[in-house]
Amino acid sequence: MLRVAVVGSGPSGVYAAQDLVQQSRVPDVRVHVLDRLPCPYGLVRYGVAPDHEKIKSLQNNLRNVLEHDRIDFIGNVEVGTRGLGPERLLDLYHAVVYCVGAARDRRLGIAGEDLPGSHSATEFVSWYSAHPDAAGNGFALDARSAVVIGVGNVAVDVARILARGADELRPTDVPQAALGALALSQVRDVHMVGRRGPSQAKFTTKELRELGGLPSAGVVVEAEDLVLDPAYAAHPELASALPAVNRRNLEVVRGWATQSPPGRQRRIHLRFFLRPVELLEDGGKVAGVRFERTVPDGDGGVRGTGVYEEIEAQLVLRAVGYRGVPLPGLPFDERHGTVPHAGGRVLREGVPSPGEYVAGWIKRGPTGVIGTNRPCAKETVLSLLDDAGSLELRPVVADPLAALRESGHRPVRWPGWLAIEAAESALGETFGRGSVKIPDWEGLLTAAGERAGERAG
Ligand code: NAP
Repeated sequence: MLRVAVVGSGPSGVYAAQDLVQQSRVPDVRVHVLDRLPCPYGLVRYGVAPDHEKIKSLQNNLRNVLEHDRIDFIGNVEVGTRGLGPERLLDLYHAVVYCVGAARDRRLGIAGEDLPGSHSATEFVSWYSAHPDAAGNGFALDARSAVVIGVGNVAVDVARILARGADELRPTDVPQAALGALALSQVRDVHMVGRRGPSQAKFTTKELRELGGLPSAGVVVEAEDLVLDPAYAAHPELASALPAVNRRNLEVVRGWATQSPPGRQRRIHLRFFLRPVELLEDGGKVAGVRFERTVPDGDGGVRGTGVYEEIEAQLVLRAVGYRGVPLPGLPFDERHGTVPHAGGRVLREGVPSPGEYVAGWIKRGPTGVIGTNRPCAKETVLSLLDDAGSLELRPVVADPLAALRESGHRPVRWPGWLAIEAAESALGETFGRGSVKIPDWEGLLTAAGERAGERAG
């Protein structure tokens, strides 16, 4: 029997587990999918916005995989704690596939970044997704004007949630406290700001278009931001040479620029060619963002012009991408924020390390949509299966779960997770809503039947 641990139960981890059990080259593979949280699904549960029900429903596909009879979900086990480092994992399993994602935010590195009122988009996402590590990080949405820095899909998510009314989010699984704060929100203007042009923005067209269809918010685009884009004005023929997604994005933005500003309760201002240089302070809190106007440098980037513009904001969300976090005992490429690998095989000093693999964002960096993880996981699993003959020869402990318990871990297994789901349905009923997420460790572990005080770490 080939025993494999997959570390992380987000899409890349679940797809890796699926590929391992749905192949015939190595028939008897058993997979333990470990997660530091008592809940599975990674960013599908704790990153996909609550109003994206269709993407959220991917959880049903992931569930089917985790219920496979040769796969075990083992939550509440944090690799790196209680002696469970990469070396120990290789005592317990023939192979380990790290699918731990990219958990940290990139920093802007500008003055005022940490002023009260300035947050990473991840903090905001974790709050409205009820991530238990964010319990206690309340957002009182008393700001009138918010700036979202970045024009990727995370920026679009947080701008959209700020622009939606609480009534629009009540049918979702957004936690009750976040719904209450959104109901009292004073936010009227959301400025989403890119340092380059609309033809270079990172968002995808479906997500962008959705901003134009919100019931209580309208999109405002400044024509003066667009004319700087060479594909928009000076050389419209350049547009036809753009990748399809950028061309479609440009068309959507162009459409908004030509319409008169919609008279709705809230406005989303889509801005371009503005590079953040400083967060401004008033009374010890963030009061705005100072930007430098940029122009294309002819090489896909931009250069500053020495002309500055300030946008008032009592709330700033920095949505400038994620970064991988080093796992003690595993090699790490600081420059890219990933684990060095060849075809998914972890490289230690340039040489493949027997039995150690990576997939997902920790392998390729924080890019792509959920489906991108399928081919990524497949490549890694093919490498692992090629190595299986020699991996199986290494002796491993007979009962890894017992070994985890002996070292003080309190695994939450599949029935524990199902109990959390049932408790979330019951919680929703008390509010007259559908299922509502439990937002804290104690609540989750109590629902799972584990005593909260004994959590690992
Ligand atoms: P992203 O797509 O890499 O976008 C990051 C944005 O931040 C870009 O606009 C980037 O501009 C900007 N930025 C970076 N450094 C900056 C700086 N110092 N100053 C100003 N702006 C800066 O990252 P993301 O939005 O976090 O998304 C991560 C991944 O998750 C993406 O693959 C995304 O598609 C995916 N995702 C998908 C969905 C969905 O499908 N609905 C939802 C959420 C996330 P430059 O381009 O100029 O660097």
